[in-house]
Amino acid sequence: MPPAVSRIVLKPGREKALRHRHPWVFSGAIASVEGGPASGDSVEVRDANGSFLALAAYSPESQIRARAWTYREAETVDAGFLRERLAAAIGRRSAMLDAGHTACRLVHAESDGLPGLVVDRYGEVLVVQVLSAGPERWKDEIVAALASITGLKTVFERSDVEVRTLEGLAPRIGAMLGAAPGPVAIVEDAIKYEVNVVSGQKTGFYLDQRDNRRIVRDLAAGAEVLNAFCYTGGFSLAALAGGAKSVLSIDSSEEAIRQAGSNLAMNAFDASLAEFRDADVFETVRKLRDQGRQFDLIILDPPKFAPTERHVEKAARAYKDVNLWAFKLLRPGGRLVTFSCSGAVSRDLFQKIVAGAAVDAGVDAAIERPLAASADHPVSLTFPEGEYLKGLQIRRA
Ligand code: SAH
Repeated sequence: MPPAVSRIVLKPGREKALRHRHPWVFSGAIASVEGGPASGDSVEVRDANGSFLALAAYSPESQIRARAWTYREAETVDAGFLRERLAAAIGRRSAMLDAGHTACRLVHAESDGLPGLVVDRYGEVLVVQVLSAGPERWKDEIVAALASITGLKTVFERSDVEVRTLEGLAPRIGAMLGAAPGPVAIVEDAIKYEVNVVSGQKTGFYLDQRDNRRIVRDLAAGAEVLNAFCYTGGFSLAALAGGAKSVLSIDSSEEAIRQAGSNLAMNAFDASLAEFRDADVFETVRKLRDQGRQFDLIILDPPKFAPTERHVEKAARAYKDVNLWAFKLLRPGGRLVTFSCSGAVSRDLFQKIVAGAAVDAGVDAAIERPLAASADHPVSLTFPEGEYLKGLQIRRA
């Protein structure tokens, strides 16, 4: 007779990751799958001796064949379990939302004990990303729990992410509860932005940079600022709020530049201090150098150059190039605030790349502080893969 709950039995010696509370079970670690689980079904994971390790979401098409929901045998995964996890994650953010901050990541997947699920709050709107088979199976229960915990009536799905194809899931964009929202007004650090949750990048806004935008604001007084890869102007407006003398912002997305311009207009800054350019950063930094331009503060927040391990070498060249040109454009005593959001590029490697760029540019520079994603994007101690965003605040000698 098949077991009541389907079961994965691991190969001998392959139980270590789960015992260390790392939630992923790779296909190569599995000896057998019993009970014919469907995609997203809960499966018991047992070691080669039959000892219980975890209850996990089964994903038949993914190399990550299962993701642990819980390591406690007494628990079952159901609407009540998910509601509890969601309420705990949302509760942890209660101090991060107030009148001056109306947007925040509420659920950060594995690091909040909810593998494959991201939930962002923009004002009165929730945006959900379902990245793996587990939360896909429980979508209705998740939406119902989110609405009841937050009291909000609009939940929109932005599951248009590459990783879903690895799970055998089609991309999906659409309303989950209520109507599809128009542009959403948010406030971050007392600065107003408009977020397009339907067609913006990610779920509409780079919430992970909240703390770093505050840091830039504090560094910007009197500075001539270059904000490369500006998207909708987050760092640009933060720099203006901090008293920047001028801010030149560059992004190759026409929609982002248009939104950045209207974000500027929504706030009471002197618009003549800001220029937004729809252009390629790699070309523009070279032109700026030819024109002899110099800056006191440069922000580099490029897109994920290395989507996977295979792309690391090529990505390293791109990070090096753009940081090299930034150093060339930086005045002595000026600051570079530089990021990588590639999970496959470690903090160590990123620091080496930036160091190489400084050497090649012929400048001396020192790290003033390491930077990371904001506290609403925690990294579970047992899930280091959660640390995708790393940055450095650097001062040129
Ligand atoms: N700093 C932003 C987020 C940047 S995301 C914030 O805080 O909101 C990276 C941005 O780089 C995206 O907006 C993307 O459109 C832009 N981009 C990607 N490649 C580019 C290129 N070669 N030149 C200019 N912009 C580019």
